[in-house]
Amino acid sequence: MVDYRRYKKLFIPGPTEVRKEVLEEMGRPMIGHRSKELSALYGELVPKLQELLYTKNHVFLSTSSSTGFMEAAVRNCVKKKCLNLVCGAFSEKWHKITVANGKDAEAMEIEWGTGHRAGDIEEKLSTGEFDAITLVHNETSTGTMNKLQEISEVMKKFPDVMFLVDTVSSMAGVKIEVDKLGIDVCLAGVQKAFAVPPGLAVAAVSEKAIEKAKQVENRGYYFDFLTFLKYDGKKQTITTPAISQMYALNLQMDRVKEEGLENRFKRHKEMADYTRKWASENFGLFVEEGYRSDTVTAVANNKGINVAELNEKLGERKMMLSNGYGDLKEKTFRIGHMGDLTLDEMKELTDAIDEILGEGK
Ligand SMILES: *Cc1c(COP(=O)(O)O)cnc(C)c1O
Repeated sequence: MVDYRRYKKLFIPGPTEVRKEVLEEMGRPMIGHRSKELSALYGELVPKLQELLYTKNHVFLSTSSSTGFMEAAVRNCVKKKCLNLVCGAFSEKWHKITVANGKDAEAMEIEWGTGHRAGDIEEKLSTGEFDAITLVHNETSTGTMNKLQEISEVMKKFPDVMFLVDTVSSMAGVKIEVDKLGIDVCLAGVQKAFAVPPGLAVAAVSEKAIEKAKQVENRGYYFDFLTFLKYDGKKQTITTPAISQMYALNLQMDRVKEEGLENRFKRHKEMADYTRKWASENFGLFVEEGYRSDTVTAVANNKGINVAELNEKLGERKMMLSNGYGDLKEKTFRIGHMGDLTLDEMKELTDAIDEILGEGK
């Protein structure tokens, strides 16, 4: 028997808390990966994901973490040159991945804690140098959420430029209307706002991206969109998938539907508003106004508290938050408010922090 009380409640920006019934769903007996049962599961799951993403595009499942699909996106969709929009650690990594795949690429870096301006992107794309851009919608390392709508308006002026978007820490927490936004590859892993154990990634891939892939050489094997498509036609995956995660995600998508998509997005917004208010009253906010994430808040540690020590003390109370990412360690700390967490749980966390910090006075 698992003693759930031994574990800390995760207020980190992934992996996130997973409900007991979803964890238990992973304990189902195995089925063959070429069986009718697998195709039935696949056939149930994919339409639920299309509904979540407001899309008619193909939705592929990869047995990898999200990074796998970041690699797939550039590998399949960049022929000429990629513009990597960089505003934090994950977007910087996408630039490195692009280069590591032998693609010509340029990073457009802005100060961390700020968001990308549509006008700057338009100017850059007007050079005609690029046939793809990568954008991290919700930069988890800094707590910045980019303005997807505004950027998508610009992208519509460049229909030949592939619009590749990492929504790893926003998908299933924030409304993302893939078809309206014209996103060619919209990717995420299930361990963040989906609130499913890690091991599976999801990507909505447009017909345009498929056509592009046909013109790109050296797409590799594991992440070749054309091979994904071939197996999708059989409601199967290229190789043995993470069947347990598929079960868990399928059940979780029913929970998402039960809650209602709009309610789910609203709950995330409420948790974000609450956490930001608490943070600005007690510390400060790292990200400029207008670009603050609805799934993770980066608190500016302007009081100079010892974040690692705070987290130790929270641990005694079976809670955990995240220190700042990389160089932002101790300068910021991050509170995840995504997945299945509730406003009441956010209040429990901030009450605990207030109490712990009050003790030293
Ligand atoms: C977590 C995260 C990733 C990496 O995800 P993995 O599933 O660990 O590969 C990439 N981008 C963003 C924005 C993330 O939050």
